[in-house]
Amino acid sequence: MDITPPLSPLSHPEIREIAIVGGTHGNERSGVELVRLWEKRPELLRRPGLNVTTTLGNPRACEANRRYLERDLNRCFAPEVLDAPSSGVLEEDRARELNALIGPRGSDRMPDLCLDLHNTSSNMGLTIIFNVLDHFVEKLVAHLAANEPKARLYYQPVDPTTSEFLPSLGRHDLTIEAGPQHHGTLCADLHSRMEAMTYEMLDFCAAWNRPDFKEPPPRELELFVDWKNIDYPRDENGRIAAMIHPGVDGMDYCELPPGAPLFLDFDGRIVWNPETEPAWPLFVNEQAYYEKGIAMTLTRRTVVQW
Ligand SMILES: [Zn+2]
Repeated sequence: MDITPPLSPLSHPEIREIAIVGGTHGNERSGVELVRLWEKRPELLRRPGLNVTTTLGNPRACEANRRYLERDLNRCFAPEVLDAPSSGVLEEDRARELNALIGPRGSDRMPDLCLDLHNTSSNMGLTIIFNVLDHFVEKLVAHLAANEPKARLYYQPVDPTTSEFLPSLGRHDLTIEAGPQHHGTLCADLHSRMEAMTYEMLDFCAAWNRPDFKEPPPRELELFVDWKNIDYPRDENGRIAAMIHPGVDGMDYCELPPGAPLFLDFDGRIVWNPETEPAWPLFVNEQAYYEKGIAMTLTRRTVVQW
């Protein structure tokens, strides 16, 4: 598997402007409450040489404690939406507002790093997601993984110029997915870990900018690379015809061999994994993905030295 990062014009870009967003999904409450905390206590985010801003992604959805009101905001950042005039769809208009406020994407006003805080109902621990990979991102995520025993690294390559995801508003993107947490609720342990990881990120960026910054030696890390999403089995009416098999449910990041039980239908019959190579599933049984036709995301596992 080739995961060579694209050549970066700067191997050591300064990271000065950092945008942190929570509540992009209004019922993923760790990020919502953290942004509200930091609005009251901005000193918690202050680091030498950094300019850190915080934004509540979808305030109306946060008030309603719902993922979104009309359309998933974290799928509204493609150029077709950002470049269009007002549509009257709440989240599309909000995406354009956020683009003007945080970006605009592609302009020289983009922040150096955009961090988006999410929760998942899946058993994913603290998953660090990044869509664009360069030397800075490698070193940053290696640092975060070293300081959080439940950290997992998920590389989902996406072209940042056409991405539909909010963190593409930054030159570098990062998403923290903390789970399992029921949507609309709070889990204190995940909240604290997400908060601590955000501070680790800021500490690393402040250190990275210093002229005396010494790169830590490469560490061996597990990396999960996006492969594909798979849907539930469906009946002739398009309705879900099976559940995640109990041997797979909750087993995010565990190897799923070819031919293993994958789903269990409502007559108790097993649906076997049709793949011919092993996969490492994540977002297993994510509640918000039932409407998207995603039962889980399959990744491939590799080991990197970052
Ligand atoms: Zn989310």
